[in-house]
This record gives sequence, structure tokens and C-alpha cells, in this order.
Amino acid sequence: MSEFVSGTLTAQNIHLAFGSNQVLRGIDLHVEKGTTASVIGPSGSGKSTLLRVMNRLIEPDQGDILLDGRSVLKDNPDELRRRIGMVFQQFNLFPHKTVVENVSLALWKLRGMSKDKAREEALGQLDLVGLKHKADVRPANLSGGQMQRVAIARALAMKPEVMFFDEATSALDPELVKGVLALMTDLAKGGMTMVVVTHEMGFSRNVSDTVTFMDAGVVVESGPPEQLFTDPRTDRLKGFLSDVL
Ligand code: ADP
Ligand code: MG
Repeated sequence: MSEFVSGTLTAQNIHLAFGSNQVLRGIDLHVEKGTTASVIGPSGSGKSTLLRVMNRLIEPDQGDILLDGRSVLKDNPDELRRRIGMVFQQFNLFPHKTVVENVSLALWKLRGMSKDKAREEALGQLDLVGLKHKADVRPANLSGGQMQRVAIARALAMKPEVMFFDEATSALDPELVKGVLALMTDLAKGGMTMVVVTHEMGFSRNVSDTVTFMDAGVVVESGPPEQLFTDPRTDRLKGFLSDVL
């Protein structure tokens, strides 16, 4: 896979509180066009919230979000959401629609494509994730790994400039994780710009270009994977890695 039109995404000094809970406390994250940034850290450290701020599902209390160097916070939030595809731990497929309907729905509903054209596009995306032969079945007939690949196809069908993955493999049985990670690896190598929140340290280490370690709402360490995984500088990252590796 190649030829994605991808954007450079930057979060600057993001602060966000839920009531008195300061969840993000001055986060910086820069994802260069065509690269993959992985975000690691313990549960509750603010990773999912950061993604939601970065695609403007939640507005930050302070800080800025830039796409290709331009602040997007004054635009209509739908604009940015359209440019960012999102894949969640729970696949969020529509159970009563077929696989191809799941992928094509937003294309005709939100993008104004004809239904025939949307179906054709959706079949093309399903082919890319190896699931064209499942086009006319319902999600319940798929494995979790196949469902997640459908969810990825659905996001890709919208031709996003950036893809977000929030623990995309955490709900999968171990034997199904590999296929989804292989697809994510293909996307990364094909030049998609990606932000990947993950517990898969192998992916973080071997596929991503940069790693950001978050804990308690701050970036504790950030840099190339070789550095963070072989030469962690802080006790917090050392402790985290010894727990997960
Ligand atoms: P992670 O993804 O790293 O596990 P989250 O971003 O989900 O962490 O959560 C970070 C903190 O924000 C947690 O303390 C969580 O309880 C809190 N939080 C997340 N979403 C909300 C919300 N919608 N309302 C209130 N608190 C929230
Ligand atoms: Mg999370």
C-alpha cells in the first residue's frame, strides 16, 4: 500500500482537566508526515484522552493542534475529524449491516457518493485488507481480527491523512493480534501518518519511528525506539518496561 496523502500533526502544550482531575498536563507530540508515532504508558495516563483531543472530540483547556503547520482549533471540528481516521479497541461495527455496508455507509451518507460508487470503493478497501470475500456477511460471522480489519478498511475508505489507533489489538485473542499488526505495519510502511496507542511493545519498537512514553498526563520520555527501549533515562520508563516486557 502506498501513495497516501498524509499530514504532519502536532500537539503543543496540551492541557485538559475533567473537573479537578488534570488528565493532560502540557503534552507535546509531533508526528511528521509519513511516519508512525507510538504512544505507550500505563493505563489511566491519558493516552486515549490525548487522541480524542488531537482529533477534536474534546477541546483542550490550553494548547494548540496543528496540521501541516497550521493551527486547526478555530476551524469547524468536523473538518479535522474528516482528515483523521480512528480505530478503537472495540471495533464499533454496525451489527445489522453487512461488512461492505459498514465500510460504504459513511461514503454515501457523509461524502455524497452514489451508493454504487460507495460499494465499489468499499470493496476495493476490503480487498486491501484481505476481506473482500466477506463483503456480504454480517460482522458476527467474523473473527475479532477480521472485524478489526473491517474497521480499519472503513476508516481508510474515508481517505484520511492521518490514522489513529487506540489499543486496536487489545480486545483480540492472542492468535488474532498478528494479522491486525501486520496490516498496521503495511500501512506504516506504505507512508500513512499514524499515531498508535499500544501495549504491543514489538510494534512500538520495530515499526514506529518515534515512541512517546506518557505517565500521569505528562510525556516522560520521547524519541527513537532504539533510545527508549535500550537506554531509558527515567526510573518511570524503566519500571514500565520491566512490567510489560
Ligand atoms: P489511558 O488511555 O492512558 O488509559 P485515559 O485517557 O482513558 O487513559 O484516562 C485518563 C484519565 O482521564 C483517567 O483518570 C480517566 O478516569 C479520566 N477520564 C477519561 N475520560 C474521561 C471522561 N470522559 N470524564 C471524566 N474523566 C475521564
Ligand atoms: Mg486508553
